[in-house]
Amino acid sequence: MVDAHVHLEKGSYCIEWIQEFIQYALSRNINEIYFLEHTHIFKECSSLYDEMSCYNEYQNNWYRKKYENARPLKEYTDFIDKMKKERFPIKLKFGLEVCYSPEHIKDIENIKNMYSFDFLVGSIHFIDGWAFSHKKQPWRKENYNLNYLYKRYYELMYELVESNLFSGLAHPNSLQCFGAYPIGDYYAEYNKIARALKENNMYIEESSGLAINYGDTELGMSGKMLKAMILQNVQILTASDAHIPQDVGKLICEMNDLISKAEKEYGR
Ligand SMILES: [Zn+2]
Ligand SMILES: [Zn+2]
Repeated sequence: MVDAHVHLEKGSYCIEWIQEFIQYALSRNINEIYFLEHTHIFKECSSLYDEMSCYNEYQNNWYRKKYENARPLKEYTDFIDKMKKERFPIKLKFGLEVCYSPEHIKDIENIKNMYSFDFLVGSIHFIDGWAFSHKKQPWRKENYNLNYLYKRYYELMYELVESNLFSGLAHPNSLQCFGAYPIGDYYAEYNKIARALKENNMYIEESSGLAINYGDTELGMSGKMLKAMILQNVQILTASDAHIPQDVGKLICEMNDLISKAEKEYGR
């Protein structure tokens, strides 16, 4: 089994830290980890946060603090080079989780060209500057036009996929982090995203991150989104969005069951 989304940022770049993650992975039958880092922890990626920083005071302070502690990308890429020379009992990949905004296609391309990462996964963390998944600025669905939000969210996702910059699409259900589940019928949107993923040879994450990090009660993508992905033959990678070794591989087995069940149902 694969865990395609594991963050290293809470520890230092050393082999012992990697080994801690591997211990938990082995105990949960994971044989491949995709390690990645958020672009917001690197100095070189600061332009990706221009719009979100201007959005409100909380976000401005949040990013200012991140920037004060930001490290050069080279610290990470040097570490990757070192780890590539080591031997591990499971397969490891190293990449980036990039905050996608349509304004920064060129910047993302530049970041991508700075190093030959194993993969780049694109995330929608902002809708037109609004960082909707920050625990320090929770929101209530009653105060928003959910249909508008979801349409925009899926539109951004489609643009991300069509940008041809990424290997995968991260946690496609993160807008529901505070319980605002999509209510309308978005099958046409899911199908459009699924077709684009297939055409661009990209994977989509089936992520337990929301369940682990936000206590979301719905595991992974919605049944309808999963159906669209399966029918379009999109590669689906299970991912925990772990930020600590203890969370690696969590709920991956359960998500594999969900995927197999759906595959049987839709005849794949
Ligand atoms: Zn994310
Ligand atoms: Zn993440």
